[in-house]
Amino acid sequence: MRVARGGGGVSMHWATHWSYAPSTDRAPDWREQGACRDEDPDLFFPIGKSAPALAQAAEAKAICARCPVLETCRDWALDTRLEEGVAGGMTSHERLLHRRRQRRTAS
Ligand code: SF4
Repeated sequence: MRVARGGGGVSMHWATHWSYAPSTDRAPDWREQGACRDEDPDLFFPIGKSAPALAQAAEAKAICARCPVLETCRDWALDTRLEEGVAGGMTSHERLLHRRRQRRTAS
């Protein structure tokens, strides 16, 4: 499932992530290099903590693991406090824990 944007296309995953995220100064071009670009966007939004949802998150994270823009995506997800979905190889809960660790380290 893709939507046209500019001369190419971005997956609905990114269209959805874009709508969740506050605006940022970072150029959006890196998103078009994401390994998730042609994947089912629903895969990146597991619901709940059931075994199937955890397996779904693991599958999404496996795609992130081979993504050429993993670090940029992770920074973006953390910087923008992205609340939903798998991004940058982390679930929303993992990002929350990461931010808490950072706060503890900083204080
Ligand atoms: S790190 Fe994951 S969510 Fe981010 S662009 Fe790559 S595949 Fe997509």
